[in-house]
Amino acid sequence: RSQSSDMLPWHDGKLWLPVHQFGDIVELIEMPCQHPLQPEQAAFLLGVLRIHANYLQLLYEAERDMLTGLLNRRKFDTRLYELLANRDGEHVLALIDIDHFKPINDNYGHIVGDEVLLLTAGLLLRHIGQQGQVYRYGGEEFAVLLQHNTSHARQTLDLLRQQIAQHDFPQVGHLTISIGFVEIDQQGLPAHVVEEADKALYYAKEHGRNAVYGYHELLLQGLISQHDSNDGG
Ligand code: GH3
Ligand code: MG
Ligand code: MG
Repeated sequence: RSQSSDMLPWHDGKLWLPVHQFGDIVELIEMPCQHPLQPEQAAFLLGVLRIHANYLQLLYEAERDMLTGLLNRRKFDTRLYELLANRDGEHVLALIDIDHFKPINDNYGHIVGDEVLLLTAGLLLRHIGQQGQVYRYGGEEFAVLLQHNTSHARQTLDLLRQQIAQHDFPQVGHLTISIGFVEIDQQGLPAHVVEEADKALYYAKEHGRNAVYGYHELLLQGLISQHDSNDGG
């Protein structure tokens, strides 16, 4: 029933109060109540419900990126901190950066650039699905947290790379992404995890782009060292 009706749905000594968000019912509050409410009581309750719905909306917006609707950097930082504090199972952080994105803005304009970011965000969400969470890290960079071991993560991320490369974007055509990933382990601080994934991403950028590299694999193979800096990253 509509939230705007004067009388709230009453049944069997109970009131059921629906809370709406984006046109859907997101909560149903059960309230003991012996009689249907008087109109002024119903109006008061509807007012309280609207305040509660606004509060839920603010909570939702606080953790979303405005352009893409993805979870934002703030939510990412919180989640990474939680993962380091209570490690349950194996997790991988992947940083994803669109290759040669600046020329898209330069050649087609900022609005088309925004559209490409929006479409890329949708593709990342669709292809990652239930396997993990996708965040907008900033600019044309995204972060993915996967509950996978190294080889599973590599497979998932390489498939993702291929799926993006195959996609035909309106006006722009094809584009590619580079991915650096790292196992979330004993790094201690969120910034250290990000720094390691970023080193692997930087390696991908320096070695042809449209590629996936893991930090620990690169270290083991001697292709990077712990002390490498990636000034341009
Ligand atoms: P690389 O392959 O090395 O990553 O090159 P790149 O051109 O993708 O990277 P660079 O860092 O040179 O440029 C990123 C560009 O992304 C520059 C910036 O203007 C643009 N950008 C960042 N945020 C947004 C946004 O929200 N919308 C649009 N349209 N452009 C953005
Ligand atoms: Mg970038
Ligand atoms: Mg880029």
